[in-house]
This record gives sequence, structure tokens and C-alpha cells, in this order.
Amino acid sequence: MSALAAELRRIVGTAAVRDDPAGLLAYESDALTLFRCKPAAVVLPGTRDQLIEVVAALHRHDVPFTARGAGTGLSGGALVPEGGVILGLARLNRILEVRPEDACAVVEPGVVNAELSRAVERWGLRYAPDPASQNVCTVGGNLAENAGGPHCFRHGMTAQHVLSAEVLLADGSVETWGTTLAAEDDLDLRGFLVGSEGSVGVALRIGVRLIPLPECVVTLFGAYDSVQDACATVSDIVAAGLTPVALEVMDQKAVAAVEASLYRAGYPLEAGAVLLVEVEGPAQKTRDDADEIEAFLRRRRPLRVERAATPEQRLALWKGRKGAGGALGRLGPDSYVMDGVVPRSRLAQVMDYVDQVEAESGLPVANLFHAGDGNIHPHFSYDARDPQQARAVEEAGARILRRCLQLGGSLTGEHGIGLEKQAFLGEQFGAADIALMERLRRAFNPRDRLNPGKGLPLGRGCAESFHRHGGYRA
Ligand SMILES: Cc1cc2nc3c(=O)[nH]c(=O)nc-3n(C[C@H](O)[C@H](O)[C@H](O)COP(=O)(O)OP(=O)(O)OC[C@H]3O[C@@H](n4cnc5c(N)ncnc54)[C@H](O)[C@@H]3O)c2cc1C
Repeated sequence: MSALAAELRRIVGTAAVRDDPAGLLAYESDALTLFRCKPAAVVLPGTRDQLIEVVAALHRHDVPFTARGAGTGLSGGALVPEGGVILGLARLNRILEVRPEDACAVVEPGVVNAELSRAVERWGLRYAPDPASQNVCTVGGNLAENAGGPHCFRHGMTAQHVLSAEVLLADGSVETWGTTLAAEDDLDLRGFLVGSEGSVGVALRIGVRLIPLPECVVTLFGAYDSVQDACATVSDIVAAGLTPVALEVMDQKAVAAVEASLYRAGYPLEAGAVLLVEVEGPAQKTRDDADEIEAFLRRRRPLRVERAATPEQRLALWKGRKGAGGALGRLGPDSYVMDGVVPRSRLAQVMDYVDQVEAESGLPVANLFHAGDGNIHPHFSYDARDPQQARAVEEAGARILRRCLQLGGSLTGEHGIGLEKQAFLGEQFGAADIALMERLRRAFNPRDRLNPGKGLPLGRGCAESFHRHGGYRA
């Protein structure tokens, strides 16, 4: 490592290589702190050419490495096994080109999601995928995880908004997949890259689609006695053929945490659940749809229904939803935010099951989720210093994921498989499917040096590298 460290310092400069224990601490986990592994070094290239040279050096030294954006991932994706190197891409944060006439932009991977939307606003455009972490997470991390967000219900996930990528492969070679002029090449390698969890290539430059800012936006809000009533209202709205851009539910614990925090939005504390619905588009059609949706919001004996009257009220409602993850941090020293999917019609059933798991595990769970997509995010609070709690939280998570599969759903909606869920992959996919995925990955990453152990079942020797608090085995 010392020869490699010297070479890395020569490429990026002394200050951009960290291998001191304090400097490495922040990189030993992502936002899923169930897993930890301290890298041997962190390299922070400042230019595309430096990044290419760094990867070529890592390839020569046969050292495993993992790209990292902002480290907000929630499946343990941005970790590297012992002896490996983290490529921190936060300094590669330039918007390289905006072409308003083609409604697209080309960005470096470390551009922060919300900054891209702010930068293109002056052309009447925005970048649609809006994870709740959008003020921090990067476009590169979004690409790797195929990130979603509240407004993806209508606008689609990151896969629908990435047009092209210049890709740095594990051996240091560079290819371009897709183009900003036409979305797909013959093999659609661009599509293969999005959601590959950083294990196929490192996105060096990303071409993204931009969409027009809407002429009119209406945000509605309903408060209900129970999560089940809120979920049933979501089904009513969708079954009527209405297409709002967002349908978000928060339960009572999430509401209480938000209202006790600086994200306070004025949600009623007595509500068992609140439902946020947003409609956008041409002014008349949007107002007509909002009227119809309001009628549905009033159907199931709501405690309260409101329509944001001003842009400030609208922003306050969203501030509460987007800040809820942070606000819930006050419920315990550690959090485990899950991600599973069920058919929308099964939301009430899976929520009943989450209640049952909460009661049996004794660990508090708050729920905030993209109800339109059937994408649940049970948020467990626990204390990782207590081995019993650490084990209990992993067992509880495993039960919920398995129930999602039993109900016809999926292991992940937007956070990825990472380290968290690779042991369950065989319960969703057959052995032949997993072998095919493995072969495809190895076509681009033959020595498994790029982000080893993520997304697919861990190989022997790799599993032991990543430390789990609870030592749980699925
Ligand atoms: C409070 C909170 C709310 C969240 N809300 C949402 C939400 O609404 N929707 C959602 O989808 N997610 C959400 N997330 C999860 C997370 O923000 C997303 O997964 C996000 O896309 C991660 O981006 P990042 O820059 O932090 O990536 P990181 O965590 O740094 O990395 C994630 C993965 O991407 C890979 N990677 C990073 N950069 C590159 C690159 N240039 N090329 C190739 N691979 C790369 C890494 O190796 C890793 O496997 C939330 C997280 C938090 C903490």
C-alpha cells in the first residue's frame, strides 16, 4: 500500500489522499451504519484525468476500489473491503454543458442533485428525480442506485433521465454508452449501467434529460385516523385514472418527529397518517385534477384536508416530508431505514405486518413512503451498542423484506441491494438469473476489483470483510 499511496499522491497531490485513521473514519460506512469497513485509503481526484490515472494505478496494483458520491446510500453500497481504496468523487462537481434547446445537460458525477435543478431553472428546466436526500446526494450516486423520489411516481426513476455516460472501466479504459441525442444504443449499455450499484464502471460524465418547469403546481394534504385509510385513498386516486406527480404517506411517529424538529410543517399531531398529493401541468387541467383529487381525499372520513394556498405553504408541506428522515434521527442513536416494494393494493397489508414486527421486536418503527409506487421505508430506531438490539433490527428487517416478496413485491425500490440485501437475492431470483447477472458484471469487471461484494451474493472471503453490528446471517 505504501508504494501505491505514494503513486496516488503523485497523481492527485498530498492533501487529496487520506490514509490517517481520523481521515478514514467518515468513509467506513454510508448512511446504513449496520455495516462498517475502514478503507486503506481515500483518494479525492479533482479532475477527470486524475481519476482515470488513479484507476489505472489501482488496476496495476490489483487493489479493490469503490466510487463514492455523498455517502448517503442506504444499502451499504459505498464501502470497500479491507485493504481497498475509496474514490471520493465529490470534487468532480462541475456542470459541463447545458443545452436548453435539446433539454439536456452533461455533468460530472459529483454534482449535487438539487444544485443541478437550481442551475437550469433560469431556462425554465429542472432535473426530475428528487430523492429526499437531494440537497446532498450526487448525480453519480443516483445513477448507480437508479434513485427515485417523491416525484418519480409520474416522472420516472433516474433510469428514465440518464441519456448517456462516459464510463471508466475497472482496468482504466474509458467508453461512452448512450448519447444525449438519442437515448439508446443497440445494447443499451447505458440502461445496464444505471442501477448497477457502482460495480460495472465509474460514471465520469453523465448526460441527463431535463424537463420543463410546470406551468401550475397544486399540493394537497389529507390527515387520517390510520395509515390504512391513507393507503386506501391512494388506491382510490390511482384507480380513478388520475396521475398526480407525487403520493406520499407518513405515519404518526414520522409526523411527531417532524413537528418536533426544525422541519415542522404544521401536520396535525393527532393524525394516524398524513397523505401529500401533488398535481402539476397546464393550469386548467391541473386545477381540474386537483378538484377531483380533493374529492377523493374527503371520502374516507379525513381529520383534515387542505390545499396549499401559497408557494410558501407548499414548500413547508414538502420541507416536512423531505426532512422526515433527518427528524427521525432524534428517536434513537442509530437508524435502519428499509426499502421494499409491494403492489400498491397490498400496502395496507404490509403496513399491518410492519406493526406486528414492531410489537414483536420491541423496536420503534416510523413509516414514510412513496405510496404511489408501493415503495415502503420502515425506519427503525435502535442502539447499535446493544448487540441484542442490533441483531433484533436485522431480523425485523429480514422479516419485512420476506413479506414484501410473499406479497408479490421486490427487495428494493430505490436504495439498491448493496451489502444489505444480497443474501436475500436468491429468494427473489432463480439461480440461473443470478448467474447471468454475475456473468454480465464480470464482462466489464472481470477481476471483481470494482466495488466487490455489492448487489450480488458475496463470495467467500469477501463476506467476512464487512462488519455487521449484529452478526446476523440471513
Ligand atoms: C435522509 C435520506 C433520504 C433518502 N431519500 C431517498 C429517496 O427519496 N430516494 C432514493 O432513491 N434514495 C434516497 N436515499 C438514499 C440515497 O440518498 C440515494 O441512494 C442516492 O442515490 C445516493 O447518492 P450518493 O451520492 O450519496 O451515493 P453514495 O452513497 O456515495 O454511493 C451509492 C452507490 O453509488 C456508487 N457510485 C457513486 N458514484 C458513482 C459513480 N460516479 N459511478 C458509479 N458508481 C457510483 C457507489 O459505489 C455506491 O455503490 C436517501 C438517503 C437518506 C440518508
